[in-house]
Amino acid sequence: MEKIFYTKKDFEYRNEIRDFLAKELDPIKEEINIKKEVPVELIRKIGKKGLIGPLIPEKYNGTNKGFISHVMITEEISKLNVAVSVTRTPCILDSYTLYRFGNEFQKEKFLKKIVSGEKIASICVTEEEAGSNVAGIKTTALKDGNDYILNGTKKFITNAGLADYYLVWCLTDTKVNPRVGMSVFVVEKGTPGFEIEHPYGLLGLNGVVNGVLKFNNVRIPKENLIGEENKGYQILMSTFNIERITLSSECNGISLAVLNDSKKYARERKQFERLITDFQLIKIKIAEMATKMNAARYLTYGAAKLAMLGEKFAKEASMAKAFASKTAVEIALDGIQIYGGNGYTTLYPMERYLRDAKFFQIGGGTSEIQNLIIAKEELKK
Ligand SMILES: Cc1cc2nc3c(=O)[nH]c(=O)nc-3n(C[C@H](O)[C@H](O)[C@H](O)COP(=O)(O)OP(=O)(O)OC[C@H]3O[C@@H](n4cnc5c(N)ncnc54)[C@H](O)[C@@H]3O)c2cc1C
Repeated sequence: MEKIFYTKKDFEYRNEIRDFLAKELDPIKEEINIKKEVPVELIRKIGKKGLIGPLIPEKYNGTNKGFISHVMITEEISKLNVAVSVTRTPCILDSYTLYRFGNEFQKEKFLKKIVSGEKIASICVTEEEAGSNVAGIKTTALKDGNDYILNGTKKFITNAGLADYYLVWCLTDTKVNPRVGMSVFVVEKGTPGFEIEHPYGLLGLNGVVNGVLKFNNVRIPKENLIGEENKGYQILMSTFNIERITLSSECNGISLAVLNDSKKYARERKQFERLITDFQLIKIKIAEMATKMNAARYLTYGAAKLAMLGEKFAKEASMAKAFASKTAVEIALDGIQIYGGNGYTTLYPMERYLRDAKFFQIGGGTSEIQNLIIAKEELKK
């Protein structure tokens, strides 16, 4: 299916990425899972290689290769260990947001360093009472002379503590509907009054750092306001669209890995003196896994292609996210079944694929919320 979306150059570029990842990530992909640590040095190398900047022009250290390359890179990293990709994702989202909505000063100061991998980024929206309903945020950033004073708490934040730069969505006008009273700021790690806690672990994504951010009278200069004041909600919706394509590609990376591993295992495992690939029930599983995976990839590459053409792609990104995450979970379950008892052990990566896949039906907007977005668009017609 790649031939529909890739140019000859894309195939060459994929080989280059595969060579890089074979050297830098493949040898440590299991170690990351066991030690529960994504080396920050790896993210820096990924940045240096240009894998954080496919959507960013060369002027700001990007490669400007576009959305199809972004999907391809994300799949390739996620095939090996999706926790690495999930650690990279906030860097992709923050850099895209800074590039689209930031001013020249912010691009020089923050964007270039994120894209090159020198600084790690984090995207901070969710709060105790604002999960699916992002308009429910309560964190405030109120003006004080040339500064804003931040107060509030964010939870479930990826790269909490690891990141140097945090894009934080806050209310700048508490008297109006949050959709027209929200703004986004860059908060630097170490700013007085900004504290980070890690009160829980995660089911999967071993190595991803996730935690709670607390802002207690944190003073932020107005130079850190991204875009116009009170336009944060529109900025967030644009960021979400990129996030959904990225997360879909991460799901597809998991599905690709499960299918590859399952085919290899089934071709070697014998029962009743026959390879298990001789059994029709196993063949049907493989056929259905491959078909669903292709459908998820078509949806994802289709949404990326629309984005590349400058067309609207919000509905397609939601379709890709809802379908690719459901598919990754189903494929991971089928993979475990093909592996039998081995699939349930920590000796093989199948259990990791399943734990990791489940995240994507929740993070970046749950599947229920994706379906609400799709239905809203469909019912307009
Ligand atoms: C590992 C991990 C990493 C994350 N990283 C980040 C991050 O970096 N930055 C960040 O800001 N957030 C992050 N999140 C938060 C994530 O985006 C939210 O968890 C997600 O949006 C869901 O919000 P919630 O957990 O509050 O669930 P809730 O909104 O409480 O939803 C609970 C259930 O109700 C359903 N539901 C809610 N509203 C509706 C509705 N209107 N119709 C039908 N069903 C509905 C949901 O689909 C879900 O099944 C992360 C979460 C996890 C688990």
